[in-house]
Amino acid sequence: MKKKHHQVFDDVRNVVNPTPAITKLTKQRLANPVPYHLFVGKNLKLGNRIASWSTLMGDYKYNMPPPFQGIVGTCGGCCAGCKQKCYVRHSYFKPSVILGHTINTWGFRHEPWKVREDIAEQLSKGKIDIVRINQSGEVENVFQFAMWCELAKRFPDVKFYIYTKNYAVAEAFLVGDQVAPNFTVNYSIWHDYGVSEYRRVMGHPNVKAFVYDDGYPISLKVDAVCPAYKRGPTGRVVLDHNITCEKCKLCFDSMVHVTSCIDH
Ligand code: SF4
Ligand code: SF4
Repeated sequence: MKKKHHQVFDDVRNVVNPTPAITKLTKQRLANPVPYHLFVGKNLKLGNRIASWSTLMGDYKYNMPPPFQGIVGTCGGCCAGCKQKCYVRHSYFKPSVILGHTINTWGFRHEPWKVREDIAEQLSKGKIDIVRINQSGEVENVFQFAMWCELAKRFPDVKFYIYTKNYAVAEAFLVGDQVAPNFTVNYSIWHDYGVSEYRRVMGHPNVKAFVYDDGYPISLKVDAVCPAYKRGPTGRVVLDHNITCEKCKLCFDSMVHVTSCIDH
């Protein structure tokens, strides 16, 4: 019987031997290395000129072959409330997705300057309008905020949106750095997680909030509801394929501070 996604996910992390599929793919990638890069295109939700950056979700130890053996997810203590429901898990049945997130995680931890310059090279080609950072995973330290902000300063025509639940590090960055006008820090809020932390910085011109609305009452005024997801007649949430972020741009509007969404 075919395994469900979460079962495959459980196989991949916290087990003794890397899966043959991951090992084979890793060997291929290491033999033919490609620069670090933002993921762009082939995304039903985002559209063609919106790029994303992802690292390993959760705080799990992943079972990867060398040189990535023992690598741990980037969400650290920030994911206690969300890792069991994290939407990224649904994509981790694909070895190529896990490997891509692993390489980005490893790169940030071991050669962040190369990550930055490779991404700068990609951005210099002028094919990207918006960068969504942390489609999966978290910011691990204030230097990563500073790195993305430095790229935003170098590419003032590109808008950078970073999604985070690492509120303490975000606040340290916001009070300590000159934030580029095209760099927005989106506090990811779920239930009570992040509400009081967002209130502490909500007056900052570079801060917004993105609320995952699963019906739990939150005490924030919501300015916009993401139109990409709708609840079908059976109650199931479906993605409207006619709406991409590239066309919609609602939550990027300067008048919209708090956006809610019934799915990710
Ligand atoms: S929802 Fe975000 S913080 Fe939570 S586990 Fe997933 S990637 Fe990490
Ligand atoms: S509100 Fe619009 S731009 Fe924002 S996430 Fe939803 S579809 Fe994308």
